[in-house]
Amino acid sequence: MQALLDDYIQGAAFATELVNTSPTVWVVAGDQLSDPRALQSFLVANGVDTAVLDERDLEEVRALRERLRPIVDAPSPGELVDLTHELLSTVPHHVELVELVGNVWRWQVTTEGIVTVAQELAVFTGYALLSALRMLGFERFRACASPTCNGVFVDVSRGGRRRYCMPDLCGNRINVANHRQRRNALGDK
Ligand SMILES: [Zn+2]
Repeated sequence: MQALLDDYIQGAAFATELVNTSPTVWVVAGDQLSDPRALQSFLVANGVDTAVLDERDLEEVRALRERLRPIVDAPSPGELVDLTHELLSTVPHHVELVELVGNVWRWQVTTEGIVTVAQELAVFTGYALLSALRMLGFERFRACASPTCNGVFVDVSRGGRRRYCMPDLCGNRINVANHRQRRNALGDK
């Protein structure tokens, strides 16, 4: 696998999506990666091409998900960096400078030997999270503002004002709760 290190926004957004498939985040819905087919659909929906996946891939991607959560949720930038370096050290790879077209150079990461889908994703997300920290800052790593959600996310938006891990879902759940509260306050049940 080869990935350009400049494309960190996609990788950081992917890390957010993956972390929030966990059954500990969206408790009612359960594990969003319930079987290898669900994993495949998730990857395709998030722009990652893969071959057919099996139970082992599923297990490894779930394990990666457990390692990414404390990175996105790290209490300090130092810890964020340490945990990410640890994750990256589990995958044989190297970084090199390649010339894309005349005089346009990019950092590229290349995995070595045969690596699993989970290892490819570890490299893809690992460097992206480090770049997000470098380019956007630690305050872009946040917990979801919804009181009923355990999600975390990296805000890679231009304005940097994102509040929810899954804006459509968590934002709406809050609206629904507020609405109910108001109705109850009026005695209209
Ligand atoms: Zn959320």
